[in-house]
Amino acid sequence: MKIHEYQAKELFQKYHIPVPRGDIAKTVEKARSVAEWLGTDTLVVKAQVHAGGRGQAGGVKIVHSADEVADISRDLLGKSLITHQTGGGGKKIKTLLVEEGIQIRKEFYVSMITDRSAGKNILMVSTEGGMDIEKVAQESPEKIHIEPIHPATGLLPFQKRRLVAALKLSRQEGDMAGRIFENLIRLYTELDASLVEINPLVLTDESFLIALDAKINFDENALYRHPELEIYKDTSDLEEGEQMAEEAGLSYIPLTGNVGCMVNGAGLAMATMDIIKYYGGSPANFLDIGGGASAETVAKGFQIIVSDPGVKAILINIFGGIVRCDRVARGIIEALNTVDVHIPVVVRLKGTNAEEAATLLRESPLSFIVADTLADAAQKVVQAAQERGGKA
Ligand code: ADP
Ligand code: MG
Repeated sequence: MKIHEYQAKELFQKYHIPVPRGDIAKTVEKARSVAEWLGTDTLVVKAQVHAGGRGQAGGVKIVHSADEVADISRDLLGKSLITHQTGGGGKKIKTLLVEEGIQIRKEFYVSMITDRSAGKNILMVSTEGGMDIEKVAQESPEKIHIEPIHPATGLLPFQKRRLVAALKLSRQEGDMAGRIFENLIRLYTELDASLVEINPLVLTDESFLIALDAKINFDENALYRHPELEIYKDTSDLEEGEQMAEEAGLSYIPLTGNVGCMVNGAGLAMATMDIIKYYGGSPANFLDIGGGASAETVAKGFQIIVSDPGVKAILINIFGGIVRCDRVARGIIEALNTVDVHIPVVVRLKGTNAEEAATLLRESPLSFIVADTLADAAQKVVQAAQERGGKA
């Protein structure tokens, strides 16, 4: 689960990680009054969307009066912000964070993540703060310093010294940084985060360290242990299909192709996407409707898939193991009575009672394209999508 910068900063404060003073605004008037309350010479207006790269995309503005804050807020509120992380449609700006401007002497990068290949939590720092860290990793990996953090010991003194040295901090600055690292590790561990990132952590003109940006992702499998985090959940900037999937508890990932896929089981879903590619097509999504494949789930699946205007044909690929194929076929027919689908639907059902299922589909008044093998299904759906003028 992703949360907004202002929410992450709230948690930072609870964990004694310093952040600039500020407050959120959903209207121009509120933005102005926050600016007046802050009363600083420099003010910063920041779009609160679930994506990074806002600075370069015009979503972070530095100004010098409450009037300017109001002007910028009028510009930003209600607009879609397109950054390199949002995709073409961008994310709608509904909330702004108005905060005091900080005089920056140096910008650093600090993050803690689960490094799956190493099987460890790692703390990562770099002197190249405020930049795209992927770019730093590619172009000058020697500028990134990594320390594995053992859950039983936390940050050890020698590791702290190494991190401070990597950031070229003075003794006093190093003490401050060390406390921030410890608090960040505590936050990460106690709240079951999968990522905590401060980019940039800055050294101010008065030699203070302060987190100018804040990003936290939580491990969704552990959210049940943190009912207090429920209030941070905001699905409103997800795409329509993602929202429906979230509500229905289905795994759905929108992609850029034109073949909608409805599959039971994540492994089969991946294989289905592979074979669509193999036959020259391009999947529009990953969608796992789970083992049950009831009429309701199938109907939900259709709704989710057709919410993407790029979809030109649908492939339903279901293995009837737990559930019998004839029941799935009935479910598909029933679902299409409740959802309007105006594009070709290719169906491949394998497993228990597959033949009865094929007969049901062929005899139904709805014009399904019934496929036998997975290869056959993939070829048919790719062809159907191409005939409807979609990009391959
Ligand atoms: P993003 O990572 O989405 O681009 P940031 O919060 O990192 O957004 O902001 C981008 C840049 O704007 C920062 O690297 C920093 O240079 C500047 N900035 C952000 N907040 C402040 C602030 N409160 N005072 C001064 N500069 C800021
Ligand atoms: Mg940032």
